[in-house]
Amino acid sequence: MQNTVKEFTPVMNSELDSRVRLFRCRLSDRPDQPGMLVDAYALITERYVVICDTMICPEDMEALLGEIRAELAGRQLLVINSHADWDHCWGNSYFKGQFAAPIIAHERCRMRLLAEEAQEKLRENRQQFPYFHSVALVPPTITFTKRLVIHGGDLTIELFPAPGHQPDHIAAWIPELRLLMAFDAAERPLLCLNTPETVQETRVTLQRLKAMQPRHVLCSHGQTTSPMIIEANIRYLDEIERRSRALLATRKPADEEIGTAALLLGYPLEEVLGDDRDAIDYDFYRQTHDNNIRHILRWLMQASG
Ligand SMILES: [Zn+2]
Repeated sequence: MQNTVKEFTPVMNSELDSRVRLFRCRLSDRPDQPGMLVDAYALITERYVVICDTMICPEDMEALLGEIRAELAGRQLLVINSHADWDHCWGNSYFKGQFAAPIIAHERCRMRLLAEEAQEKLRENRQQFPYFHSVALVPPTITFTKRLVIHGGDLTIELFPAPGHQPDHIAAWIPELRLLMAFDAAERPLLCLNTPETVQETRVTLQRLKAMQPRHVLCSHGQTTSPMIIEANIRYLDEIERRSRALLATRKPADEEIGTAALLLGYPLEEVLGDDRDAIDYDFYRQTHDNNIRHILRWLMQASG
């Protein structure tokens, strides 16, 4: 616990429109490791300042608003939660007090934040890190299921469901900038499947995001704004499926073999990463890669009975 590190930093990105501001939070239990990096955004439109995700604790939002204080004058503050995972909405309680603001999300995000599992996760994280003591779970106050459009005047923000990573996950499209906020629907170096049942939905969402032909893609994890990330995620899942099908054509692996999935498929994390290796939490992505293979194998085995 003494060695934990938490940093909040604004991120400069000259490729993006100046109305789109990036912020990054780093949380690590080992100072020499990059740990978990999660991004949040502030969109400065004529009418609204829109905060997209609230990171991991209210202090993050205090720091973020400190960076954009001048922009708040004359603009209504709005908050969006991309989904109910802890690293995206645990700063929500900051928007109950002096900076009270509506919090917009998918209806299922509200349900997830109100569920006992969310409280359980908070108790768990409090034991691991000191940064969660000020966190209070605050559910979204405006919810939708199909589509919600924020007309900011100069910028339009179209929110729509992008399920897969989680069932409540949404993405946002700003047509004036051809900018897609994919949040956790795309991720560098690789995305995170949670169950065999979500494999298909995740891929449908990726194809849909690709078809929008964005000029910029913002992912919550992975420090990239390149639209190539969507294609890279699609290729990655295709490659796991191809190798899994090849294996299953010869034999059905035993349960204990699926436990070491990357080994079983002969598809190590290093091969996935290629030359793209900076600031990556190896332990996390090695485990995520293994889980992804496991979920795709089980999904294919279920499909073939
Ligand atoms: Zn996340």
